Amino acid sequence: MSQVIFFNVPTTGHVNPSLPLIQALVGRGEQVSVYLTEPYRAKVEATGAQFIPYPADIVPPDFFEREKLDGSNPPHSARYLIEATGKLMDALLPALRENPPDYVMYDVMCPWGNLIGQALNVPRIESMCLLFIDPGMLVRQAGLTGVAGMVARGAKHLAAHAVASRRIARAHRVKALSFAETLLNPADLIVSFTSAEFQPNAAAFGDHVRYVGPSIAPRADSPDFPFDRLTGVPVIYVSLGTVINNNLTFFRACMNAFATWQVQVVVSLGRHVRPSDLGPLPANVIALPHVPQLEILERAALFVTHGGMNSVHEGLYFGVPLLVVPQTVEQRGVAGRVQELGAGVMLADDTPSTEQIRAAATRIFENPSYKQTAARLAEGFRAAGGQERGADEIIRFIAERKTP
Ligand code: UDP
Repeated sequence: MSQVIFFNVPTTGHVNPSLPLIQALVGRGEQVSVYLTEPYRAKVEATGAQFIPYPADIVPPDFFEREKLDGSNPPHSARYLIEATGKLMDALLPALRENPPDYVMYDVMCPWGNLIGQALNVPRIESMCLLFIDPGMLVRQAGLTGVAGMVARGAKHLAAHAVASRRIARAHRVKALSFAETLLNPADLIVSFTSAEFQPNAAAFGDHVRYVGPSIAPRADSPDFPFDRLTGVPVIYVSLGTVINNNLTFFRACMNAFATWQVQVVVSLGRHVRPSDLGPLPANVIALPHVPQLEILERAALFVTHGGMNSVHEGLYFGVPLLVVPQTVEQRGVAGRVQELGAGVMLADDTPSTEQIRAAATRIFENPSYKQTAARLAEGFRAAGGQERGADEIIRFIAERKTP
């Protein structure tokens, strides 16, 4: 049994896949303490782990949204994360040095986890809920001019990042993290929640990466969904995820695209667009701020998604073909991979027209290969072992490190 500290960022897409893995570790006798913000307390405690709130002045509940850590401005994200890292290390390290854990775990967006692990000289394990990207993939996703523009716009953030990183290195006797290391934290072991088949160029990222596939367990977080309204006709599920979803035109276009089809459309609107904003709903549409996504996907024939990593994993896990409408550069990378593998179609425009959505959905329904490929990827995901294999890999890795 080991003492483990797990650092995460307060956003659903990063917390959701971590919880089943934490629960699996607790099931193997590990004593896990999770740093997060108050709104996640109940979910963390339900895994059997101990919840520890971050200092709210450093990581407030809106930490992720307030500074737009959504992948749209990497230089700015790196600066914000490294500045938070410095403050967290100053605040947390004295007590952690008194009572160090046996190992630390951290989400890919927590450079403080990496550096606290280094400062304490304990093994560092990363929970990787995104796709790895190399410079070539970034250029393919954003275009050369896109990358050049990002760097030019981000120059002041990159300079501030370097200053903060050097300050941390001096104060805490750790290696100064580069811009890339801040966003894609190195670790001794990385548990990736995708399969080696889905991750492009998987072998290139090192043999310390274990591709365990999606970490998925029942969540019971939307108990009020009206399942009795689902009549048995095919279900089309529409969602832009939980972060960048303020796109009323897109939701309207989806609603109109399928209004006359013999289907039911379940729409997860998120926090910005209200059901009343959509106007009168066609009889075959159920639109709510939040829905039980896993249970809906189990019943779905098509998933119209933004291409968030979890949504794509969850859709494919249930063998559902995907119509991907990415809203960010990162999501474009995931969408491109779905299309390349043949499990769905990507629409490049972030606000496609009703006709474009209808045409793409028709293509997916008329060509069985999309569903077949989704089913094949689902088999690969399940064979990769998920959170249970992830926990086994971690326990084995730590046992090997302890054996001289
Ligand atoms: N989700 C959900 N119900 C909803 C919308 C989203 O349970 O109505 C969950 C979804 O299952 C996934 C997460 O929220 O686990 C969204 O993560 P993703 O990486 O797909 O997108 P993000 O929200 O980070 O953009």
